[in-house]
Amino acid sequence: MSFDALELAAPAVLEIAPYIPGKPLSEVEREYGIANSIKLASNENPLGPSPKTHAAMAIALQTIELYPDGNGFELKQALARKHHCSIEQITLGNGSNDLLVMLAEAFLNADVEAIYSQYCFAIYPIAVQATGATARVAAAYPNTHAMALGHDLEAMSQLINDRTRLIFIANPNNPTGTWVTAHELKAFVASVPKDILVVIDEAYIEYVQDDQFPDASLWIHEFENLVVTRTFSKAYGLAGLRVGYALSHPSVAAVLNRVRQPFNVNSIALAAATAALDDTEHLRQSVELNTRGMQQVLTGLESLAVRVYPSKGNFVLIDCERPSTEVNEAMLRQGVIVRPVTGYGLPTQLRISIGTEQENTRMLSALAVALK
Ligand SMILES: *Cc1c(COP(=O)(O)O)cnc(C)c1O
Repeated sequence: MSFDALELAAPAVLEIAPYIPGKPLSEVEREYGIANSIKLASNENPLGPSPKTHAAMAIALQTIELYPDGNGFELKQALARKHHCSIEQITLGNGSNDLLVMLAEAFLNADVEAIYSQYCFAIYPIAVQATGATARVAAAYPNTHAMALGHDLEAMSQLINDRTRLIFIANPNNPTGTWVTAHELKAFVASVPKDILVVIDEAYIEYVQDDQFPDASLWIHEFENLVVTRTFSKAYGLAGLRVGYALSHPSVAAVLNRVRQPFNVNSIALAAATAALDDTEHLRQSVELNTRGMQQVLTGLESLAVRVYPSKGNFVLIDCERPSTEVNEAMLRQGVIVRPVTGYGLPTQLRISIGTEQENTRMLSALAVALK
């Protein structure tokens, strides 16, 4: 009999469709025999981290033989100052992905349910399914809606029942770029029974230039069942290091601490994140570059007459009105890597990250050729 681990795996795990990451530059260049390609596929910060953050990493590297601080004390202190909360309300993660998985592991099992929206971040289904819990997927707003493909909180509300334990909301959402308003979101959180945790994933919030936009981190003192996740992967430019955090009631953090790997955040990441938080000027520059780049990309897409979904992130979702894989292929041949979102049930859409001015120009001309 031949060996096949598929027969040994937990049944719930077999249901999981594996996450397909954006291809790294090196792989695309090898595959297509090209050089000087650009990657606008994973919503990374084109500026990267600041020189101050690089310096902090270099210092941390000098004591790399030591285990990291398992409690992440210094980073938590800096975060507690930023968010006006206690360090007991903070959980650090190996990226915010780690926190989403910890939340599912700690609060879900085969007898309960979790709710998320159609076109939500791909990690929610993976995290939920691994626990054997039942996923309830709320239909997103239709393609004709002003916030097309966005989270419909009313539809999510209707899926709540006695077995619901967790609700995931990304604001703004990836891959759509869509968002929910402060009024809608706060009313939703207030309406959810206290024995259900509401997880609001704010991976892109630093990019949002809108005074009216909800910052759910301000509500953690008001709603004990609210968890807000943030990341250093996007606006802080540290995607490769893997560091994020959750803000919550201290008792939620205490539960997460039980499933957390003792040294889940490495020492370089701890040092870098602490330095990055301090460098508000670099963050400002990163956001400003994105705001300008977004304008450039939107203007360029308008002249290509491509449908663009509303976005408050550092990326846009477009509808190519033909299989996106074809357009993607044509762009790859020109050395421009963007992200088809077929796996999300969006077969004609492409997600494109905002890059530097030069990268955006190159992306727009590659797209023009690809759409011809
Ligand atoms: C990128 C992203 C994250 C962040 O993932 P990390 O694990 O922190 O790198 C979280 N949520 C959403 C919606 C994202 O797009």
